[in-house]
Amino acid sequence: MSQCLIVFEPSGEVLYQLNKKTSPFNELIYSIVNETYTTLEPNLYTVVSSQKRFYLLKKDRTYVAVYFDAVTTLDSDKVKQCLQNTMKIYNRLTEEDGGADKMHQMIEYQVDQLMRMKTESTEVEEKPEPEHKDKTKKKGGKKMRKWIDGELVEVEEANLDYSSAEGQQHGELELLKVDENAFLKKDNLVLVNEVQEILDESSDEEEEKPKNTFFSKLTSYFGGAADIDEVSKKFVDLLVSKNVAPPTAQTIIDRIKLKLNKSKVTAAEFKRLLTEELTKELTPNVSTDLLYEIKDPKRTRPYVISVVGVNGVGKSTNLAKLAYWFLQNNLDVLICACDTFRSGAVEQLRVHVNNLQRLNTSQPSRVALFEKGYGGGDHVVNTARLAIQHAQAEKYDIVLIDTAGRTHLNAKLMEPLKKFGDAAEPNKIIMVGEALVGTDSVEQAVNFNNAFGNRRNLDFFIISKVDTVGDLVGTMINMVMATKMPILFVGTGQTYTDIKKLSVKQVVRMLTS
Ligand code: GDP
Repeated sequence: MSQCLIVFEPSGEVLYQLNKKTSPFNELIYSIVNETYTTLEPNLYTVVSSQKRFYLLKKDRTYVAVYFDAVTTLDSDKVKQCLQNTMKIYNRLTEEDGGADKMHQMIEYQVDQLMRMKTESTEVEEKPEPEHKDKTKKKGGKKMRKWIDGELVEVEEANLDYSSAEGQQHGELELLKVDENAFLKKDNLVLVNEVQEILDESSDEEEEKPKNTFFSKLTSYFGGAADIDEVSKKFVDLLVSKNVAPPTAQTIIDRIKLKLNKSKVTAAEFKRLLTEELTKELTPNVSTDLLYEIKDPKRTRPYVISVVGVNGVGKSTNLAKLAYWFLQNNLDVLICACDTFRSGAVEQLRVHVNNLQRLNTSQPSRVALFEKGYGGGDHVVNTARLAIQHAQAEKYDIVLIDTAGRTHLNAKLMEPLKKFGDAAEPNKIIMVGEALVGTDSVEQAVNFNNAFGNRRNLDFFIISKVDTVGDLVGTMINMVMATKMPILFVGTGQTYTDIKKLSVKQVVRMLTS
């Protein structure tokens, strides 16, 4: 499949291009001039021309367009997300000194992720589908990328894309590298470290150096104290440029204006209050100390953790990372395959469990898979119930349930979550949300939070793929503010040890600089 992305001005001047195939874009520009496109929503258009399907997003005086073969169908929300993220990355990095390479890598990642959606959208409706005719094609070869020293680099490490038969071969033990130093040993517990190098673009030492940041530009733009409305507007723009949803950014800034309650303010004073506000939002007001709860000797049934999220966000990978961490703590883990709708989901978990078993040979702890195949509705509930009974009988400490990750916009497909919540009574429900998602994250978080009915909420987030977004970390604020639920961990890569505790200080610094 050929695909190409381009950022351009209405005059036709190309500002940035991924893949050097310009010619079909002339036809797109022709469609724009002649207004022969279809408007999907304000500022989002689509055109089919010369067997290519174009999607076009317009913002102010800039267009970003992506095209691919017309036979390919992609969810237009995902395309919109990709184009919005690209626009943000372009606007932020284009003026940053030395930002060109970083911009290219980040935009390329956005397009790669979008194209993967094409091969992954094999969702099964209420009907069981035990046979997976062509599993090798289900997911494309995924590249392992890490954010190191401000660069998105490809690294050769264990690939956890084990949902395909091909992935299964890659799941050989020698490929299953884990970072021996990823965890911290303290008081007989193995703890997850705070995120270091991934988000560490602006360490304390670096902050000493003068930088061409938004904030430094803002300070010189205003000079001293300036009209509070003007300063506020600039800070809204800053937050939105970091992927904070516009209404969320406005709410935060309005709170600060209210606190300041004066007509003139310096950028520095505004930033100080913004830092306080964001820190308050991201600092958990409940204990995130899962291990103590799990190891509580008074507990009478296995500790049940359910993991939910939209397909493709990294739900099963991060569930496997949790399992690996629990195994290091000598806890016995039963992984239950309750994503009984999506073709390939059970096999994907089986591969993770095999890998975990092979990695865990030197530990006394156990890990196993509980599965009852595919099926809709009540099948999820029954599978969860049976898994918990089995775990109780076999004395497992934890049941980790991979719950059907439905599309959060379809109420019918979210329905089984309520039944499941009522039946399994999970001790914790963790939603995996990906850092890439941006504005849609608010709706995702709210819909999943409501899906369990009045009696139950989400407990925590795991924000996956933070290694791929640079400083566009606004999704964390979107999700936390929409639900008041804290972030338990962030996912920082594709190996089982790529899980870290959030550094609130670092994230706030990235959002405000
Ligand atoms: P699911 O459909 O939600 O269960 O998603 P998967 O667990 O299959 O993950 C989808 C893809 O995201 C896989 O290629 C994973 O290796 C990748 N992935 C998951 N977490 C991370 C992360 O923290 N960083 C990166 N770079 N990739 C991740």
